[in-house]
Amino acid sequence: MLQGQWIKRGEKVIMNTYSRFPIVLNEGKGTLVRDVDGKEYLDFVGGIAVNTLGYGDEELTEALYDQMKKMMHCSNLYWNMPGIEVAEILIENSVFDKVFFCNSGAEAIEGCIKLARKYGKMVHGEHCYEIITMKQSFHGRTMGAITATGQEKYQKDLNPLLEGIVYAKFNDYESVKDLVSEKTCAILLEPVQGEGGIRPAQREFLKKIRELCTEKDILLIYDEVQCGIGRTGNLFAYQTYEIPPDAIALAKGLGGGFPIGAMMAVEKAVLALKPGDHASTFGGNPLACTAAKVILNALLKQGILKNVKEQGEYLREKLENLKEKYDLVSEVRGIGLIQGVELSVPAGNIINACIEKGLLLVGAGTNVIRFVPPLIVSKAEIDKAVNILEKTLKEV
Ligand SMILES: *Cc1c(COP(=O)(O)O)cnc(C)c1O
Repeated sequence: MLQGQWIKRGEKVIMNTYSRFPIVLNEGKGTLVRDVDGKEYLDFVGGIAVNTLGYGDEELTEALYDQMKKMMHCSNLYWNMPGIEVAEILIENSVFDKVFFCNSGAEAIEGCIKLARKYGKMVHGEHCYEIITMKQSFHGRTMGAITATGQEKYQKDLNPLLEGIVYAKFNDYESVKDLVSEKTCAILLEPVQGEGGIRPAQREFLKKIRELCTEKDILLIYDEVQCGIGRTGNLFAYQTYEIPPDAIALAKGLGGGFPIGAMMAVEKAVLALKPGDHASTFGGNPLACTAAKVILNALLKQGILKNVKEQGEYLREKLENLKEKYDLVSEVRGIGLIQGVELSVPAGNIINACIEKGLLLVGAGTNVIRFVPPLIVSKAEIDKAVNILEKTLKEV
């Protein structure tokens, strides 16, 4: 079998920073993907909430091919048309006034951290630089983003971390309020915590934080890197909650598999940035922006958000059924097509057994199985996936 040989070659030359499943993925179509030996999987990981339209979407690949032939990159010394077009779509369909493009989620968070500090200093003075983030959060792996991440396991041996970040308890308004001082310039949170275990914010929690931020003139920043771009049934998770932030970080699903990230913000925050304040060589390149344009148009015009609402509800029902039937399942959480099944035992063995049976799943924290399939997933595919999971639960 080729797969074992490829893995051996990889282990020799690629840094050992991931605990990978022993699978070499090679090609896919829709929600199906095949490894290098030809074994087929139903993919409910979707590149970790990245492959918005699944694999091999024709419109996406053709648009990329056409753009690639014209121009892949031009620097931000100049304007490019796909960048302007995709920014227009994002602004027209959100509360935000301006976009900054980058290449990943962590970079979008770094942009938000810089924006928050510049805003604090502009509006309140030199002393105003502190950012409140949440425990169990995840914001990425750069030094700023890892400091914002409220989980010590990711910060181990990286000291000293960035100064001026403090952690509140998610869904506990008093713990946030207690940390607010004249030093606070922003509150950063995920409307649905992803890596931390698929934990949706309570609406009341967000509402009170929104009011607090408005009252104190503090920026409210949402990390929608995982839960944005259609996943909750609206283009943005803040639209599902109907509680808008002042700035937002996006990435993962935005390019449908092509790397692109973005930070957006409302006018009052954007005023804190001047030419020269922030930059990215690859940020907003015409190829990445062409991908994002196809994804956003598909979500907004091709009924995909409706599919997320329908299939999200269906998946949720099926998972709740499992909870009724199996003591092992302790809770089902999520919104739309970002769902988590919490088990009373570590999820690893069950995930591995599902993979063996042809269903790709991934954990979120130790005890939670995460479901973030492509947003084009069908009812029949959900049936198939949940059947595989049920069969596995029966065997335990
Ligand atoms: C994945 C993720 C990030 C980091 O994104 P990268 O593209 O890996 O840098 C940040 N925030 C959230 C909520 C994420 O899920």
